[in-house]
Amino acid sequence: MAKRPQTLTPSWLLTEHVGVAACSQPSSRTQWSVPLYRDEAIVLRSHKLGEADRIVTLLTRQHGRVRAVAKGVRKTSSRIGARLEPFSHVDVQFYEGRNLDNISQVEIIDPHGADLAQDYGRWTTAHAMVETAERLTPVEREPSVQQFVLLLSGLRSLVSCEHDAPLILDSYLLRSLSIAGWSPSFDECARCGVAGPHRAFSVSGGGMVCSSCRAPGAAAPSPAAVALLAALLSGDWDVADSSEVRERREASGLVAAFLQWHLERGLRSLPLVDRDDRKLGS
Ligand SMILES: [Zn+2]
Repeated sequence: MAKRPQTLTPSWLLTEHVGVAACSQPSSRTQWSVPLYRDEAIVLRSHKLGEADRIVTLLTRQHGRVRAVAKGVRKTSSRIGARLEPFSHVDVQFYEGRNLDNISQVEIIDPHGADLAQDYGRWTTAHAMVETAERLTPVEREPSVQQFVLLLSGLRSLVSCEHDAPLILDSYLLRSLSIAGWSPSFDECARCGVAGPHRAFSVSGGGMVCSSCRAPGAAAPSPAAVALLAALLSGDWDVADSSEVRERREASGLVAAFLQWHLERGLRSLPLVDRDDRKLGS
């Protein structure tokens, strides 16, 4: 499989709220000599710790993926707890701990979750997105601004119902994989580079492959499904929005197979995504 690091400028990014980037600041020391840092983040998930605490996993803009302890947040009196729901876009102050860092302040920038909870399809889609973001940022504290911006833009697109949820998900998955270094090829042969169009799609080969490079078992997607995949990767929403149900299903199957191939373990939340094809008129 070829690794192709790629710089992406998806159309979602045009709507990015740049003002909050100024919230980030380098670590500083208080009079108590506790190293503090502040960052913008998206809550990926959280789980219980002891009687009253939670361990929260966040994807931050500047510090990559961070797991941190939120103390006392399961008490009903906690104001911070409600701000650390999955999908929330927050401004967080951390102080460094011996093992995990601790969360000392949280300001909500956009909760996202309340809007997404109105629609089961979008809710399950958001879960698949945050799980992917966690899996594709395997090293804690390794900055990945592109993954942060992509996830934020994807969640915003989902909340605003900008496009059908399955299209947002597949576009997000393709772009997230590309940022991780696994950009599929939908035109030239993924193995030898000869110009397309080609007929076969090889999950292990990295995308469309020519007849010489085609391995047994390669899929033969319709040209319309391949065009949709290319549109989802490049952000050509006119093409994506006008696609037919049949090609969307075909494209989704290939995206799922491509994702599974690159992740050691399958995504838990992907099979649960309610794609609600009935809405698309099937
Ligand atoms: Zn080839």
